[in-house]
This record gives sequence, structure tokens and C-alpha cells, in this order.
Amino acid sequence: MPTAVFRFYAELNDFLPPSRRQVAFPHTFQAGATVKDRIEALGPPHPEVELILVDGRPVGFDYQVQHGDRVGVYPPFHRLPLPEGSPMLRPPLPRPVRFVLDTHLGRLAAYLRMLGFDALYSNAWDDAALAHTAAAQGRVLLSRDRGLLKRSVVVHGYCLRSLDPTAQLMEVLHRYALGPEIAPFHRCLSCNGVMEPVAKEAVLEQLEPLTRLYYDEFHRCTQCGQVYWRGSHHARMERFLEEVLHRLNGPNLAGPRQGHYNP
Ligand SMILES: [Zn+2]
Repeated sequence: MPTAVFRFYAELNDFLPPSRRQVAFPHTFQAGATVKDRIEALGPPHPEVELILVDGRPVGFDYQVQHGDRVGVYPPFHRLPLPEGSPMLRPPLPRPVRFVLDTHLGRLAAYLRMLGFDALYSNAWDDAALAHTAAAQGRVLLSRDRGLLKRSVVVHGYCLRSLDPTAQLMEVLHRYALGPEIAPFHRCLSCNGVMEPVAKEAVLEQLEPLTRLYYDEFHRCTQCGQVYWRGSHHARMERFLEEVLHRLNGPNLAGPRQGHYNP
């Protein structure tokens, strides 16, 4: 059977067993196999892959692996341009980046909304609905489920490494370089709708007596009608936001790991 040598770079090693991390290793395959199929069989879901070099030459996902190939597989680069002539593995990510989240990621969805990002989430969606929504709406699918991200319909996706929602938020902010796009208190935490300022008189009936007494500025979700004001939960959210910005810009932050091009 034909054999090729694979080497995975930077954070793609997260998907490999320890013995295959950061080293070149032989891989035996059936003739006619595509490089996308072989990469996924070895671990990483295709949305995590940004560049594939075969003997130093960039190839697309449909490249048929040949006996004796040396295959280097790279995640997205944040600081280096792709080599000249690289085939696009997928259409460019639409900006502003919008997300759809797997059913276990409710906290992360709330955090993303808190920072102003469009984050669809419903714990009623199955895998097919998630993958379809991501593809049909040009959204990034966020999940910890590699099998879901390996569905061929998925174009843009990211496999969260951490189980902790705050750490997950930092992963997403880094992966998509979202720092400059943070727009807090702009999106409804319960339904993802956009909020707009609303006159106090218009929401008076919905307010508790003390809220009516102490607050004068209100926002209302244009989608579900939920009313927001600067209550105690707002102060907690501001502290959380400060912490996130500190971690994003702080000097001790372990930023996105950077790959290099030597296969
Ligand atoms: Zn809403």
C-alpha cells in the first residue's frame, strides 16, 4: 500500500496522539485518497486547516496523495502571509464574523453576545441543523465535537480546546482576531437580537417599582422585546469585560501560536 509522510504544525498537534505531535510520521493509505480525507482520518477537522504543502508545494483539499509524498499541514497564520500561489482551501471568511454554536456552548454564546458578536445558539438544534445553518448563513461553527466539524458541508469552523467558557471566549477572540470588533452591550443576551435605546415612558409598564425610580436609560431588544438597564448585573458584566480586555491585551498572554513553513 502507498505510504506518505505527514507532519502537522502548531495547534493542529492538539488533534494528534502524543507520539505524532511535532514530528513527521509515515501514514499508509488506499490509492486515490484525497489529502482532506487523510488529514481528517489522522485527527484535525478540515475547518482547522489553512495550508497544505506537498513536497513544499501548496495543494487543495482534493489533491490525491501519492506514494512518497511529504505532506505538511498548517493551521491559520496570524502574522505570515500564505505562500505565493496557494490554492484557497475555502472561500474567505465573511466579515463581520458571525457564529453558530453547538448545543453545549450556551455560556460561550452569552459571552460572545455580551461583546456584541452575532452568536446563534439553540439547545434544540441537532448536528445536521447546526452544520446546515453554518453553511447556509456563512457562519463559523463553534464546537468541541470533531465529528460535527468534519461534516463536508461545514466551511468555516473551530474546535474549542478548553472546557471553560471564559477560556473558550479567549480562544475565539484570538483565532478570529476579534479584539478591535468588540462592541459591548449591543446585543440581547437571551436571543442574539440587536438592542436599541428606548424611552423610559415606552417601557414603564415592564419595570419593577425600584427600577422605575432609580434608572432613566433603557435599551430594548428589537427581536424579543427584553428591556435592559444599568443594574447590578451590568456592573458585573463591565468587570468581566475589563478582565477579557486585560487578558486580550495583557503582556503575559499566550497569544495565538505561530506556525512556520519548514515542512
Ligand atoms: Zn432579545
